[in-house]
Amino acid sequence: CGIIGILGHHEVAPQLVEALKRLEYRGYDSAGIATVNHGHLERRRAVGKLANLSDLLVHEPLPGKSGIGHTRWATHGAATVVNAHPHISGRVAVVHNGIIENFRELRTELAEAGLIPESQTDTETVAMLTRMFMDRGLSPREAAEATLKKLEGAFALLWLFDGEDDLMIAARRGSPLAIGHGRGEMYVGSDAIALAPLTDRITYLEEGDYAFVTRAGVEIFDAADRRANRAQVRIDPAS
Ligand code: GLU
Repeated sequence: CGIIGILGHHEVAPQLVEALKRLEYRGYDSAGIATVNHGHLERRRAVGKLANLSDLLVHEPLPGKSGIGHTRWATHGAATVVNAHPHISGRVAVVHNGIIENFRELRTELAEAGLIPESQTDTETVAMLTRMFMDRGLSPREAAEATLKKLEGAFALLWLFDGEDDLMIAARRGSPLAIGHGRGEMYVGSDAIALAPLTDRITYLEEGDYAFVTRAGVEIFDAADRRANRAQVRIDPAS
């Protein structure tokens, strides 16, 4: 029910957990984070309170300077570790708020491509679709665009890729999502509350927008795949 992403210059795991704490007010049943650690995607997930995720990270630290995090409010599939986000398929990690309405049809299509889900969630089909497109030779950006065209429902999505330390892809359809601008760092979050400790400059994605985020900045496209200019606004710094 909450999303955070950071392309940073420091270890991101503690920052991701801190941001997830600020999203706790939305409610959740499990949580997880993934980072690009020495080029490779790795994740930690835990059921219940964020303290459980923090405890896990004490015993199994997750290095990396870019990462995504999620608090889940289960809609499809019980609140288990396997169903917790981030979901990973091949080189693709995804966190998601909302519902992918056509996930059953997508699963059938994925099965025909030989891809079988590990979880009961609607979300995992997003990671699997993007992976399927990358297996066919598309770049992460092209694969995320192709994936978005196949999704029905209301959602906010954030992708992170194995081997890509400087790329997150965000998409908004029905659930809010904001981009945070730092000094040589960039952030994505469900709301300004999550981003406030990190930056006071944010850009809200508009309905149907998707964004390619790197440390150098953000490129935003609208639902018709046209380059979009969205205003930067100042928010109150976190107290
Ligand atoms: N539908 C997804 C799931 O059940 C995402 C739920 C959420 O918004 O946290 O995993």
